Amino acid sequence: MKPLQELTRPNIWALKPYSSARDEYSGAEASIFLDANENPYNTPNNRYPDPLQKELKNLIAPVKKVLPSQLFLGNGSDEAIDLMYRAFCRPGVDNVVAIDPTYGMYQVCAEVNDVEYRKVQLDENFQFTADSLLAASDEHTKLIFLCSPNNPTGNNLCREEIIALLQGFEGLVIIDEAYADFSDAPSFLLDLEKYPNMVVLQTFSKAWGCAAIRLGMAFAHADIIGILNKIKYPYNVNRLTQQEAVRMMEQHYRVKEWVGSLLEERTRLVREFKKLPCCQHVYPTDANFFLTRVTDAKKIYDYLVSQGIIVRNRSNITLCKDCLRITIGTRPENDALLDALKKLKLQ
Ligand SMILES: *Cc1c(COP(=O)(O)O)cnc(C)c1O
Repeated sequence: MKPLQELTRPNIWALKPYSSARDEYSGAEASIFLDANENPYNTPNNRYPDPLQKELKNLIAPVKKVLPSQLFLGNGSDEAIDLMYRAFCRPGVDNVVAIDPTYGMYQVCAEVNDVEYRKVQLDENFQFTADSLLAASDEHTKLIFLCSPNNPTGNNLCREEIIALLQGFEGLVIIDEAYADFSDAPSFLLDLEKYPNMVVLQTFSKAWGCAAIRLGMAFAHADIIGILNKIKYPYNVNRLTQQEAVRMMEQHYRVKEWVGSLLEERTRLVREFKKLPCCQHVYPTDANFFLTRVTDAKKIYDYLVSQGIIVRNRSNITLCKDCLRITIGTRPENDALLDALKKLKLQ
């Protein structure tokens, strides 16, 4: 890995962050706060939230077996993705490399930040090789994006290739584990100490059932997390979100229960789905959704909409011709999907 200073945009490395009232005094023992121009009425929403989310990080860190200093919290993992560009990629100069197909936000953020986005197509099993990503990179490649289990394909990426990339790439490797809770593969978080150039993303939006509160996590060496904290908006995670996430951490056994039910439903839904006349193929999945190639994706998508069932048409994406991406729902929801598609053949 190159020294972090060399990877960081010079203006960001030199930046002195905005220091908020709550940064300069964070003690709780004082009882009279006249420092932040807040309204003294309407407690508790009148007060600015903790800019570094200490209480919440102290609950998450032991569960994830990391230090609070190795954890960044943001307004969804989408914030962390954007901050990675803003911290490390000089607009119009640097580039990033990513697998294709994958989660669309990596490219959107690249375009917003005027950073060249280089795609390397996955093979027919939706796998990659470290060599092909390294071959697409050059001295201006700062970041490589991986997503495992991958969206929209659903599969885990090959662990040996990920490790080869972590060892062979001079910049930062981002491993998006938004769906890791649904997979048997061990999280790369367990190897955080081993790879100083690794950034692991996780989110409260999927297995944790909290997409509405907008809370994402980035895990990395404390020096990388320090850079993200330096450039984020001071109060990027609001108090209501912090409070709800604290409540979720206190009942995280519920996540295990949800994941258990969803995995059972996934097995059942995939098994039944494969019997449908419209189904050509169901790709293997390690996530709470599956990708399926159907006879006519647009027709089936439109038909399902007319039945009040919304899936994701991924036909226009690389390697996904005539593919739908289907999220696992509750048992009645999944049954409604199957029933609707069984009727389709009668038309
Ligand atoms: C859903 C998803 C996310 C989650 O984004 P949030 O901003 O945390 O809601 C991140 N990465 C991938 C690949 C996803 O599919």
